[in-house]
Amino acid sequence: MNHQEATPPGVGRVAVIGSGPAGMAAALSAAQAGHHVRVFERYREARPAGNILNLWPPPLKALRAMGVDTDDLGAPCHVQFRNLRGKVRADVKLSPEVQAEYHGSFIGLIRPDLYERMLAAVPPGVMQFGRNVETFTQDAAGVTLHFDDASQEQYDVLIGADGIDSLVRRTLWGDAPKRDHRLHIFGGYTFDSPTGAVPGQAVLTHSRTVQGSWTAIRSKGRDGYQWWVLEAVDPDAPAPEDLPAAATRLGAEFPAPLPGLIAGTDPAHVQRWVLRDRPALSQWSQGRVTLVGDAAHPTSPYAAYGAGMAIEDGFFVGRALRGVDLADGAAVAAALRGYEEPRKPHTAQQVKLAYLNGKIFHHTPALLRPLRDFVMDRTPFLQKVVGDASPGEIMKQLALIEAQI
Ligand SMILES: Cc1cc2nc3c(=O)[nH]c(=O)nc-3n(C[C@H](O)[C@H](O)[C@H](O)COP(=O)(O)OP(=O)(O)OC[C@H]3O[C@@H](n4cnc5c(N)ncnc54)[C@H](O)[C@@H]3O)c2cc1C
Repeated sequence: MNHQEATPPGVGRVAVIGSGPAGMAAALSAAQAGHHVRVFERYREARPAGNILNLWPPPLKALRAMGVDTDDLGAPCHVQFRNLRGKVRADVKLSPEVQAEYHGSFIGLIRPDLYERMLAAVPPGVMQFGRNVETFTQDAAGVTLHFDDASQEQYDVLIGADGIDSLVRRTLWGDAPKRDHRLHIFGGYTFDSPTGAVPGQAVLTHSRTVQGSWTAIRSKGRDGYQWWVLEAVDPDAPAPEDLPAAATRLGAEFPAPLPGLIAGTDPAHVQRWVLRDRPALSQWSQGRVTLVGDAAHPTSPYAAYGAGMAIEDGFFVGRALRGVDLADGAAVAAALRGYEEPRKPHTAQQVKLAYLNGKIFHHTPALLRPLRDFVMDRTPFLQKVVGDASPGEIMKQLALIEAQI
């Protein structure tokens, strides 16, 4: 489809920039709403940004509603926060109904499997790879995309799913500096099963300065484990040359199975990221253009919810365009505002929590760390902030998704 192609009455033309989880979800949901959709991705394929991943029940529910096959996509896990001696500090317990339906709190999976399943559900012709959008303009009649090969295409709606360095966000709302969390994370996965690894478990452990975590995963019928270790860092310092060695050093103080999982990981499957986000926006949409996923609310992986929220955003923005005449600019603007209003508090809360958790666990001054750990070990603080608050938020999102199915 290009700007010369006509669409039947009532069917609008929706462009999405970016083929990450947000872009694919927005495309699936907008196509279900009956619109013609194109996803423009600068790379020649949908490139998973990283390997390790966990998905909570709301994104799984949204994926199913959008026709994505989630059967055996990952390993359902029961999530616990512990201290170095194995004492449970918080237990993420969802309602019995949700646990029965999803078999646990979240699933552990590897990211390429999610992309594969989502791509398989996207209707033919929607994905446009190797198309780099350089700029866009909008007026009352529509949005014009300008590509780096000097071509142009016109659409009724533009959804910016173009990640933390979003062109769409910058064009609408100007540039804002990234916020450095002064943390880095090493992660990997293995299909080994060393002593201490328990299927169906996710254990997030904090020492005085390092987080060392592991969860069960499943990939294409194989059981395995993913792990990550996270510590404070100067974001401008060069990356360690030997990532597995750096991860091994950080994991050494943790109980089994973490050191064994790191040792059993193919060095090619060890990755490192420096954590950053951006300040929350008070508004996402302007006229016929809106934002989804990291373009709207880049999130530290401390939340393990960035891709999950991206999928939820895509689901909700497509639902908001259901039954809307996309030729009517005022109706489009109202629909996009209706999409973003309930999303903003939910996503801002997750971004804030992820940032604060990183600060508490890795940037508390050395003298105060014993006091912090006393509070974590002997009071219900972490249970309240993480163990109880997360299930509450998950139940709320599940209900909102159910209402839109
Ligand atoms: C180590 C790590 C662990 C994580 N763990 C989890 C987890 O367990 N659970 C979870 O839910 N989330 C997790 N996240 C967060 C999650 O990865 C992100 O929030 C998610 O990928 C955001 O998806 P997105 O689609 O918004 O953006 P992206 O995945 O960044 O996709 C943006 C796409 O837009 C394309 N693009 C950009 N500009 C243009 C342009 N001008 N023209 C065309 N294409 C363009 C890019 O090439 C890219 O493909 C983790 C992140 C990290 C780093």
